[in-house]
Amino acid sequence: MPEDDPSGFNQGLMELGALVCRPKQPKCESCPLNSRCMAYEEGVQSEYPVKKKKTAPKPVHYAVLALKDDKGRLLIEKRPDKGLLAGLWQLPMVMLKERSGPKQAEKAIREEYGAVHLVQTPFHYKHQFSHLTWHLSLYEGWAGENHSWKKEMGRSFRTGWFSLPSSSSKSH
Ligand code: SF4
Repeated sequence: MPEDDPSGFNQGLMELGALVCRPKQPKCESCPLNSRCMAYEEGVQSEYPVKKKKTAPKPVHYAVLALKDDKGRLLIEKRPDKGLLAGLWQLPMVMLKERSGPKQAEKAIREEYGAVHLVQTPFHYKHQFSHLTWHLSLYEGWAGENHSWKKEMGRSFRTGWFSLPSSSSKSH
């Protein structure tokens, strides 16, 4: 790159890419760089630019937990400050094995949240990210008066109870 005119150099490169060395049908015969271009020399210019193969999004299965306490409050948790959906609050999610049925899902939930009373709902949802596909199944749960958490709450997530508006908190 010429030190006295980097901006002109960049501009020239952009115009070359837009008008001459295009991804499809590059104009190699009139290209000012054809004497230095190895792709042209070897006759393989149509093989460039090399496209990355797209990898299929990885499926991940979660039980999503609508868990209320004896006061009708809903448990919510905050995602870690880094990574996917960083810092957002959500209903607790428990990762499941791919072919988990309701029984395995309930076992996985109880391993994290103790002996909550659980009901699977018919709600299933698929959420697509570029690299992941979340398969979400909703479970309703109720942590009774004498509930004790099986694992310490918090871990990498922060948790809290959210008081619902009175009309939606009367189900228990
Ligand atoms: S000669 Fe090389 S740089 Fe020029 S248009 Fe062809 S492929 Fe692109």
